[in-house]
Amino acid sequence: MNAHIPTMFLMIIVISACLAASVALIARTSEPEGTGYWALAITFNTLTYVLFIGRGQIHDWLSIVLANVFLSSAFALFLQGILQFQKRTVARWLIWLPVGVEAVVFAQLLPWQNARNVANAVILSTQILWIVVLVLQRRKQTAGRGQYFVVAGFLMLVTVLFMQGIKSVLQPDEVHSLLKPSLVQTLTFLISPVSTVLLSLGLVVMSKERADRRNQDLAMRDELTKLFNRRSVLESLMHHVAMAQRSGLPMSLLMIDIDHFKHVNDTHGHLSGDRVLRDLAQTLLTRTRAQDVLGRYGGEEFLLILPDTILQGACRMAEALRKAVEATPFHAEDGQPLTMTVSLGVSVLDLASEQHGDALIGLADQALYRAKLGGRNRVEVA
Ligand code: GH3
Ligand code: MG
Ligand code: MG
Repeated sequence: MNAHIPTMFLMIIVISACLAASVALIARTSEPEGTGYWALAITFNTLTYVLFIGRGQIHDWLSIVLANVFLSSAFALFLQGILQFQKRTVARWLIWLPVGVEAVVFAQLLPWQNARNVANAVILSTQILWIVVLVLQRRKQTAGRGQYFVVAGFLMLVTVLFMQGIKSVLQPDEVHSLLKPSLVQTLTFLISPVSTVLLSLGLVVMSKERADRRNQDLAMRDELTKLFNRRSVLESLMHHVAMAQRSGLPMSLLMIDIDHFKHVNDTHGHLSGDRVLRDLAQTLLTRTRAQDVLGRYGGEEFLLILPDTILQGACRMAEALRKAVEATPFHAEDGQPLTMTVSLGVSVLDLASEQHGDALIGLADQALYRAKLGGRNRVEVA
């Protein structure tokens, strides 16, 4: 099966130009997170094929040397985009070094098509695999699956480059021109537009997935302390109560209230109050286990959900938190040292009765009230 080459080139140009424009439109509206570089990269990819289509009609320096330098530039730009997305830096000269090598090598190898194919397999594949490695290194920290589209797109390109390189080595006497119909060439023309689509789609999805995750985080977190906000900690409580009732595993709840917090605001100002709240939230957070859920329930009140925890465990945890807060040096905005204490109410889910989350909060609140009455800086059990 052989393809009509000018049609294939034209198709790739149209697809690539549309994708470049689409990514550029997205880049215009979002923060600089790689999309600008990616739009430019796809533009260079388009220009490469514009030059390819002129092969034989325009000078070889344009349709061969410049075209491949553009292609190599496209990968350098993809790489810069990925680095910007990941908030990493690599020396710019290192990123653009392969482009310089490509220019020099192609200028030297202009008359030798097969040698050029091998050079491309080495230089361009190195650039592409570098990008793939960067993406895979951060796959766990990157939201969503768009990244795998990107990896797939790039690996398809590497496959094409290797096919061309290997064919040039195995059949050195044949002319493997882009313009000469062959199986490898047909596959090249099939894979390149598909990989460009996959790549662009993947990159756009990657940005979108990151934005989604950010919004989700914003909706779930308390702005000041970065703990779960009231809504999400209550949701989490309902979920854990339902799970405990189904599994029969115990669960406990702590309600934590800062003692005389109003005094901090009144004597040191609201900003100092905010600072203490933030620091105290961190003090609590660093002492919780991975499965525990800590949220800001009200102004200076926190809820700590303790899954799979019986009364003794919850009391031990409450006492540990109380001591930790007492021992932590806090500071007002002007640096003045402050000693803070908390009172805690503990409640345990009663698996025998169909108890709800609200009841659990009510019990913890009552226990907390008793802790306040009893002199503060203490733990009481419901
Ligand atoms: P108690 O020991 O009985 O708990 O006394 P308290 O002063 O801690 O309790 P009270 O309920 O009288 O006061 C809580 C104060 O917390 C009042 C409110 O201005 C303050 N507060 C609530 N949210 C914030 C906040 O986000 N930032 C600051 N700086 N203060 C806050
Ligand atoms: Mg309070
Ligand atoms: Mg208080």
